[in-house]
Amino acid sequence: MREGWTRVGEGDRTSIDQLTSGARGPGERRDATAVGRDREVSGAPGAGDAVIACDRLVRIYSTAGIEVQALQSLDLVVDPGELTALVGASGSGKSTLLNILAGLDTPTAGRARVAGHDLLTMRSKDRLGYRRSVVGFLWQQTARNLFSHLTAAENVALPMRLAGLRRGKRRSRAMELLDLVGVAYCADRMPAQMSGGEQQRVAIGIALANQPAVLLADEPTGELDSDSADQVFGAMRTANAELGVTILVVTHDPLVSAQVRRTIAIRDGRISTEVLRRTTVDDQGEAADVAQEYSVLDRAGRLQIPRDFIDTLGMRDRVLLALEPDHLGVWPDTASPPTRTSTPHAAHGHGGRGGQADVHDGVTGTEGDQP
Ligand code: ADP
Ligand code: MG
Repeated sequence: MREGWTRVGEGDRTSIDQLTSGARGPGERRDATAVGRDREVSGAPGAGDAVIACDRLVRIYSTAGIEVQALQSLDLVVDPGELTALVGASGSGKSTLLNILAGLDTPTAGRARVAGHDLLTMRSKDRLGYRRSVVGFLWQQTARNLFSHLTAAENVALPMRLAGLRRGKRRSRAMELLDLVGVAYCADRMPAQMSGGEQQRVAIGIALANQPAVLLADEPTGELDSDSADQVFGAMRTANAELGVTILVVTHDPLVSAQVRRTIAIRDGRISTEVLRRTTVDDQGEAADVAQEYSVLDRAGRLQIPRDFIDTLGMRDRVLLALEPDHLGVWPDTASPPTRTSTPHAAHGHGGRGGQADVHDGVTGTEGDQP
């Protein structure tokens, strides 16, 4: 046990390794499964455990009179110790979210808490300490993560020096961290004497120097070849398993997103779907990795229906809903719903953006569109 580090137990580590090692399993389904992410930032049951909690987070950029809504009422809850991938098209708001969580940018509205720190009300004098000790950040560009005139060990020791740790302690902890991420042999090298992958692994050590609760990484393997990317992501998994640090990593790499237990997809500034991967054991004791895609149900009852589902069924503007004992039926406006046990409700699409449909209790079908 490394002094000063919180380490998860061996049993936990095994299960984390198992859970994160499988690619998409044969049992993956494309059902319309939905998970409610309606825990509040504080107050609601279970929310107290969350290390990251965003509640209706909004970020509007205004430049030259033009407004861009980069985050549109985004809800997100991440529990301690999770290793989560964040995916989404360019411009969907991934970097905006990470910058807010890192304390580098402030939201326009909504709520965001990280490890008990409220990012909307945090005063500027507290932001420095927050960025130094509560979150670690990894940029895509290696040069942005390291000081070129310091060795790897000096780079990792620097945040500890700024936090007031004494010299001997800094050096020994820097060596432990470099060992953890597999680049102890680079300790006395300058960044120019290391490969891109080695520099990114040193950067993970820097980000972890002050034992942050959360490590945020914005496409950390984007500039690397696949072998180096594997090693960098492997170092992140080791840090997650051995130190228990919560990790949120933006990635375009399907190999990375296939190795994490939870992948969340962001579309037009809000979370649209999640893929959860689990290891299941059948009656014969055979273990299998199962990945299941969920649509996210927000607190207002909005559900994003996957684009291909909508296109396949030719859904537009409004759909018919029917509440069944254990599920909800959704039909295109043109179809006559099959025999059912309850009355269908008409639901109006909202603007058609991303195919959202309101499915909350308040939709009663009284607006004249019910057959
Ligand atoms: P991603 O990281 O998913 O590619 P970003 O979070 O960088 O997306 O951007 C989300 C949206 O916000 C985009 O439309 C982008 O053009 C816009 N945006 C990002 N940063 C700024 C900024 N500083 N000023 C104005 N618009 C911005
Ligand atoms: Mg980005």
